Amino acid sequence: MNDRMVHIIGAGPAGLVAAINLARSGYKVVIHEQKKEVGWRFNADFQGIENWTTREDALDVFKTMGVFVNFNCDPYHCTDFYGPNLRPKTVETDRPLFYLIERGGNEWSLDQGLKRQALAEGVEIHWGEKVDTLPSGWVIVGAGPKAADAIAKGMVFQTSHPNYSACFLDNRIAPGGYAYLLVNNHRATFATCLFRNFRDERAYFQRALESLQKVLDIDINEPREFGGFVNFFVKPTAVKQGRALYVGENAGFQDALWGFGLRYAMLSGYLAAVSIRTGLFYDELCEQQLKPAMEASMANRWLFDMMGNWGYRLMLRKMIGEDDIIETLRRHCRLTPIKRALSFIAKKQYRSRLIDKQCMHQDCGCVWCRHCAETLSSQKPNIIQRSPENVG
Ligand SMILES: Cc1cc2nc3c(=O)[nH]c(=O)nc-3n(C[C@H](O)[C@H](O)[C@H](O)COP(=O)(O)OP(=O)(O)OC[C@H]3O[C@@H](n4cnc5c(N)ncnc54)[C@H](O)[C@@H]3O)c2cc1C
Repeated sequence: MNDRMVHIIGAGPAGLVAAINLARSGYKVVIHEQKKEVGWRFNADFQGIENWTTREDALDVFKTMGVFVNFNCDPYHCTDFYGPNLRPKTVETDRPLFYLIERGGNEWSLDQGLKRQALAEGVEIHWGEKVDTLPSGWVIVGAGPKAADAIAKGMVFQTSHPNYSACFLDNRIAPGGYAYLLVNNHRATFATCLFRNFRDERAYFQRALESLQKVLDIDINEPREFGGFVNFFVKPTAVKQGRALYVGENAGFQDALWGFGLRYAMLSGYLAAVSIRTGLFYDELCEQQLKPAMEASMANRWLFDMMGNWGYRLMLRKMIGEDDIIETLRRHCRLTPIKRALSFIAKKQYRSRLIDKQCMHQDCGCVWCRHCAETLSSQKPNIIQRSPENVG
């Protein structure tokens, strides 16, 4: 095997961060991307790089991972939270609560920024190459989600509203999840994230929109609908045959509580590169740097699911009273012995939730089915069969 050559499957954030770091260390890196461009599964929608899980600022962590900011990246210090009663609770923070970034094929999206950095390091990208079996030698598999544990249904639109962010917690509009509004430079993203009842996504989205319009006077121009899904799971290993390292959502690395998977994806890509470069075991690196947060997020998801609307009200009331909300959020993301025990229960509960049994997927246009039609070759998207040699 050529030890200085690495094949990467998927030009998502996980694959691109791995590529940037390996190419910089002198490896020949080839990315195989099934689409003709990066960011195909996104729609110029805004997302947030959360800034509460680490003591270091997220952008400093990016620097450690060998990534610099050459994409739109706006700090947000203030967010309005709405509970089921739609009374706003404003959270203000000294350091940014999150950085707003854009996803998709647009010039200043995160995806394009990472692509530019990879190309500048000499990474070769083979566009339109869908890989179904593992190439020989070192392989990093960053092929994105394999199934849906949560879905988002939303729209991007133009608006004259100034920059703003809001989060809605209410099971009547986002069962087990939340709805969010992000406005930046007269463009906006509004979506509802569902952790169950996928089939009724349209009704939930409609109700979420009604809630938004009750609390905010915002003009919505040129709306374009979008949808997407996220996948989280914890497996004992993210390595196959000692040479194929799984990164990002394809390895289940995703925040089970709220779906903030970007930092997981990028960190796992970085760790895969470190592992190949130094000989350190990838599984061990993940065990130290990713798994504790993953398990805590599983436990938090379980708790969040138990809460219901009364719990959201209580949580918001408590949250707003805190002096330092970032510190509070970070505390909740730590894997304490209680959280470890809860994550054990949660993992058992969520193991079979890779499919949404409520949707029969017959002539169905739900977010989950639309995406599966593109990403999974199986005719029946709720039956995921892959041989051990296969990529996913
Ligand atoms: C609507 C929505 C909103 C989100 N909001 C946030 C947010 O605010 N903050 C946050 O942190 N996270 C958010 N996430 C999650 C975040 O987008 C993902 O966790 C992240 O994109 C995962 O990166 P990845 O590299 O693992 O996979 P992806 O970004 O999915 O990239 C995988 C790549 O692999 C390619 N590929 C797949 N199969 C093959 C194959 N067989 N051969 C070749 N190429 C292949 C795909 O075309 C794709 O380019 C959101 C997700 C969604 C859907």
